[in-house]
Amino acid sequence: MHWTNRYGLATALAMVGWAGLGALVTGAAQESAAWMITGAQVADGTGAPLRVANVRVVGDTIASIGSDAPQAGDRVVDGAGLVIAPGFIDVHNHSTDGIATDRAAATQIAQGITTVLVGPDGSSPPAIAAYLAARRASPATLNVATLIGHATVRTQVMGEDYRRPATQDEVARMAALVDTGMREGAFGLSSGLEYVVGSYATTDEVVALAKAAAAHRGVYISHIRDEADVVMDAVKETIAIGERARIPAQITHVKLGTIGVWGKAREVVALVEAARARGVDVTADAYPYLAWQSNLKVLVPNKRYTDPASVKEALDDVGGGRNIQFTRLPRYPQYQGKRLSEAAAAEGLGEVDFFIRIAEDEVGIIGHTMSEPDLEVFYRQPWVMVASDGGVGNNHPRGAGTFPRVLGRFVREQQWLSLPEAIRKMTSLPAARLGLADRGRIVVGAKADLVLFDPATIVDRSTFEVPRALAEGVRLVWVNGEPVWREGQVTSARPGRALGR
Ligand SMILES: [Zn+2]
Repeated sequence: MHWTNRYGLATALAMVGWAGLGALVTGAAQESAAWMITGAQVADGTGAPLRVANVRVVGDTIASIGSDAPQAGDRVVDGAGLVIAPGFIDVHNHSTDGIATDRAAATQIAQGITTVLVGPDGSSPPAIAAYLAARRASPATLNVATLIGHATVRTQVMGEDYRRPATQDEVARMAALVDTGMREGAFGLSSGLEYVVGSYATTDEVVALAKAAAAHRGVYISHIRDEADVVMDAVKETIAIGERARIPAQITHVKLGTIGVWGKAREVVALVEAARARGVDVTADAYPYLAWQSNLKVLVPNKRYTDPASVKEALDDVGGGRNIQFTRLPRYPQYQGKRLSEAAAAEGLGEVDFFIRIAEDEVGIIGHTMSEPDLEVFYRQPWVMVASDGGVGNNHPRGAGTFPRVLGRFVREQQWLSLPEAIRKMTSLPAARLGLADRGRIVVGAKADLVLFDPATIVDRSTFEVPRALAEGVRLVWVNGEPVWREGQVTSARPGRALGR
């Protein structure tokens, strides 16, 4: 007995080198499921200052935090010089289908993302229970939760006849579908009121559906009706929906996307702060880029895509075609990656004429149309969290770079935020938004979703030219106590869970 203990203890105390870790992860899968990360600076997710502690994981749970020595059989990781944080929770993620086809999700876990909330912008799986069951049957590296989409239920009820306000009966049927989705495990309602299906909905319609989500303590997360010239009205509408439906409301990827509204971040902040002061639970998320990705049509708010005057105004609003970059251009693939100004010139056309020629195609664009001072104002607000609007296979660099970009550029280089505050915006703040009580913090009893990273080197490497280049600086990622990422490699573990409410 005595000998066995001493032998076990000696094994535990032998620090595992990075090179040996892979062999242990796969080779010892049937042995102790306990991990001890020693000597790392703990960013616990609450925003509290960093402190050095040993973090022990047993099974899928954080078992101790403090000065305990490793126990017999523990797999020990030397965290000296590194930061350990709760896994990042991405509340705007487009991996709805991507995590089924690419269950490794390297672009996500290399950033330290351990939970994605899918079904954004009003578009979700049509059947929530079936979607979650499929994820459980075929798990990914990371956890997934979903919203139920406004546009999804709208087309289920209205079919192709959605270019009008819904009738009362139709709204009631949509609300019943939201109710079903919430019962099946959705975390709330998403909307995309700037997009074609959602844009025909009245505020009253959205309030009715938000009430159905609120009845199950869901959240309302919205790509708001406008992010340009009438953005203030769209912010007010979001606040009104939150207030009238008594639901936590979130402005997703908050932005000021045309030059006419640049510099007005403080006005948005003032609207939100005033609402919060009177008890409306309004928050926002932002991705750390000055460019957005969408389709060509969103540039023209009045939807007159072939009217030269409307198109000219739309292009003027974004500073001209040089600020519009194509990500998808079915009839002219040779201009993918090029700017609208370049493509028009190559075709011997003016920018307006070229726009009209491609207006009815399925054209994807990146708009380089935001200002850094606005982004800084948003990021400094305590109620603004980090979210990517990316996901598996995304063609915008945010899909592979968002979280390390915030830590490398906005924390380390530009010092907009302290490291603990940035981590809070990636962990406990989104967890609280979703009502995830057992994730988003490093506390005893929480699920062991953890990220071990080097604060001196963490940074994004994805660009508009190479949007899926993996981020750097994340050493090890655990999901539910199992390592899924170590030293630049996805492991064979697929411990991600489908989260329901
Ligand atoms: Zn969106």
